[in-house]
Amino acid sequence: MHAIGIDIGGTKIAGAVVSEGGEILLEQRVATDAGDSDAIIDAVVRMVERLSREYPVDAAGVAAPGFIDATQSTVYYTPNISWRNEPLRERLSARLGLSITIDNDANAAGWAEYRFGAGRASTDMTMLTIGTGVGGAIVTQGQLFRGGFGAGAELGHLRVVPDGLPCGCGARGCIEQYGSGRALLRMANEIADAGLIGHNLAEARAANGGQLDGTIVAALIEDHDPGALAALRQLGSWLGQACASIGAVLDPQRFVFGGGVAIAGELLLEPIREGYLANLPARGFHPEPEFLTAELVNDAGVVGAADLARVHRAG
Ligand SMILES: [Zn+2]
Repeated sequence: MHAIGIDIGGTKIAGAVVSEGGEILLEQRVATDAGDSDAIIDAVVRMVERLSREYPVDAAGVAAPGFIDATQSTVYYTPNISWRNEPLRERLSARLGLSITIDNDANAAGWAEYRFGAGRASTDMTMLTIGTGVGGAIVTQGQLFRGGFGAGAELGHLRVVPDGLPCGCGARGCIEQYGSGRALLRMANEIADAGLIGHNLAEARAANGGQLDGTIVAALIEDHDPGALAALRQLGSWLGQACASIGAVLDPQRFVFGGGVAIAGELLLEPIREGYLANLPARGFHPEPEFLTAELVNDAGVVGAADLARVHRAG
């Protein structure tokens, strides 16, 4: 049976009817006002009603940012929307009369990648999503890992530098400060300031009113500009180091990288592999995991949320 997946973001809600094979049959998007949490619930209800009028479904999964409890029913906390201990599943299922599940958005995207993308045909996959921050998802022995309270797999807050850069989470030295899109911009700015190979970065920054942004750095990476590539290598090296620590605990067969930076493909994966091997405990005595970029990109949230709803209903 088809299922509906809903992905609630800070600025929009995406919803889709998804087949058992992970194919999107119908998709919709609406803008959200993150300040009005009741309006978001109304918008989700309307979207599920509209989508289920077109296709028969027996479950709907909702992906939202933040901490979701282990029973997939309560949103403990969302960073942009004012949900605090919000019984979202109960509120939605009371209005929709459908089996509803709630999951963290990074978990939903990771599950989609595991089922239908770069993780398929493996049993153990770890995904890191490189956006403004660093998101994480863990699949172990074919199961999505949520942790005892539901807030596990926060891989962005793995500490890689004792007393390192301050992180938004309140700690210091988290990989999010060294392996995120924001970190890439910081590294690119430092290289621009240092001159020499940073010449093109500095020139592009000046032409853009003194600011580098993701689009500019991505374009320079695509042109194989030495400064932009150096920044990407630094980023990849940090991510590889984090993967060595993650690997020591979880031993995944595959590490998958999503988010905007992953478009760089091999240019990103190569320094990740090197950083991993240089920091691996007991190197040489262990099969090497695969390092891959994500395949589903924009649709992962809705596809994963729908499939998790189906798995939950079946389970
Ligand atoms: Zn942190």
